[in-house]
Amino acid sequence: MNRHISPLPAHASVSLLAPAKINLALHVTGRRDDGYHLLESLVAFAGFGDQIDVSLSAQDCFTVTGPFAQAVPTDATNLVLRARDALRARFPTKARPVDIRLDKRLPIASGIGGGSSDAAAALIALNRLWALGLDIESLCETGLSLGADLPMCLHGQQKGLPLLARGIGEALQPVPRFPSLPIVLANDGTGLSTPRVFEALSRRDNPPLPSPPDFSTVETVCTYLRQTRNDLYAASLTLAPALAGLLDLFAESGARFAQMSGSGATCFAVFHDNAAAVRAAAFLKARNPQWFVVATETRHASE
Ligand code: ATP
Repeated sequence: MNRHISPLPAHASVSLLAPAKINLALHVTGRRDDGYHLLESLVAFAGFGDQIDVSLSAQDCFTVTGPFAQAVPTDATNLVLRARDALRARFPTKARPVDIRLDKRLPIASGIGGGSSDAAAALIALNRLWALGLDIESLCETGLSLGADLPMCLHGQQKGLPLLARGIGEALQPVPRFPSLPIVLANDGTGLSTPRVFEALSRRDNPPLPSPPDFSTVETVCTYLRQTRNDLYAASLTLAPALAGLLDLFAESGARFAQMSGSGATCFAVFHDNAAAVRAAAFLKARNPQWFVVATETRHASE
């Protein structure tokens, strides 16, 4: 027996949901000199997402399973491994080998931030497993080097609150009160490259988000959302014309509000209650069995 190996800490493994990130509204308000776009977005996190299991191990391993496993890289370019390697570079002596398993349930390049959410979950899990004791702001420093959406995913996963995101996505303000929204997420299989959508934008100086009200009910949220836009929609539509049909189907299925998330092509719809969301998901799936369709709820805030 090797007496020099220290015992495993209490947290020898950590399992986390890496939730879908939903841009309920997304306004493009400008562009910085370095080319990054300035955005204003109301972001919520779904009760559905990828699953990440991380455990201490004799050597580093990475396995990807799940319905969308074939579409993600399994080499060092995967955002999960980039997150592991970036944190390890900061704490080389504490970063023990880890076995990471990713169950990829979210479609790829689909506007719901699967890669960023996976990387955020990996950072949170490794912070615990390696007993680094980092606070969320310190994790965001590492996260931001991996992508502009990492800070919002880190905050969303740590606190579960919907957020108002500004700047390039790094200036975050939690929304203190927000109901759980019954929603359906749907994607017809189209992947859209975010840089290509931004290139196709015709206007980059749109008005900011209207001031948010006190979001007390699902109806208050929907009334607010009807005054907002996704400024990327028109550009995404030129690359994926079938998007319009998806939104029409949501309208037919009784949605209170429907819109594209992020740069698409995943769209979401808000329903009056969970039963209506489940019925609408069944309606969409019956018409299009090959689509990604999921009925879920957004996480709520009640501070
Ligand atoms: P966003 O909404 O932030 O624009 P997205 O949902 O449109 O993101 P992702 O699913 O995060 O897009 O994928 C973007 C790119 O990242 C893809 O080209 C994919 O190959 C790559 N990638 C690397 N690691 C991952 C991962 N763990 N999950 C998904 N994509 C990954």
